[in-house]
Amino acid sequence: MKIKILGSHGSDLFYSQKGESHRCQCVGFLVNDHLLVDAGTVASALDLEGQTRIDHVILSHLHLDHIKGLPPLVDNRVGTNGQPINICSIPHVLDGLKTHIFNEIVYPNFFTLPKGEPPYLQASILTEGKDTLLGDIRVTPIHVNHTVPTVGFLIQDDQSAWIYSGDTYQTEELWALAARIPNLKGAFIETSFPNEYENLAKESKHLTPKLLVQEYQKIGKPELPLYVFHLKPQFREQIANQLHDLSLPSLSILQEGQEVEI
Ligand SMILES: [Zn+2]
Ligand SMILES: [Zn+2]
Repeated sequence: MKIKILGSHGSDLFYSQKGESHRCQCVGFLVNDHLLVDAGTVASALDLEGQTRIDHVILSHLHLDHIKGLPPLVDNRVGTNGQPINICSIPHVLDGLKTHIFNEIVYPNFFTLPKGEPPYLQASILTEGKDTLLGDIRVTPIHVNHTVPTVGFLIQDDQSAWIYSGDTYQTEELWALAARIPNLKGAFIETSFPNEYENLAKESKHLTPKLLVQEYQKIGKPELPLYVFHLKPQFREQIANQLHDLSLPSLSILQEGQEVEI
């Protein structure tokens, strides 16, 4: 599987410090050009042709940094004669999108537009613990521990599998499943705050580098490549230093524009 990193941060920020500048963008990972994993960033990272290739979007939860790319994506697709975009998640997320975003107040209801024709968006319910085939990729949502109903995902094809944490604090089920997958090739785990903000991490149900290593070790596969994402951009350097200090050779921090082959 080819995973293109459209956004890898926990917020948007044009980061400029000590002569280094970088455009940090909210989370969005594009798998094999057709499946989007969370939609924090889409339209600002892909040309129109790339956006028309997206068939399915799986969403971990309703927080804005994971869904805010959807309105511009669907807007840009109008007039491109593509199929509806299949938005897949747990009922809480699908209901929330319709109630709070595509509600004819914040944005038009693209789940019903255009009238009398196939809509631009369609909703597909994912059931926790049950796998669903989307194209040639199989996804399984697993409950994780965040402030709102949230799932991580096991994502696999015939050759390989990887795990995506979504936003999470200390959790169990996702790691227990990861431990049982023989061809698991990577763990993509969020780390939002530096160690000094452990209280905030606990309240907002996110991880710090110290908490990350405890969660990663629950998988019980010390060689498993660990890809860290969802750094809050203003703490980018501080978190990166603390991740480096963990001395985990399998650890890397995901960057916008990067491609990972799993
Ligand atoms: Zn988030
Ligand atoms: Zn969140």
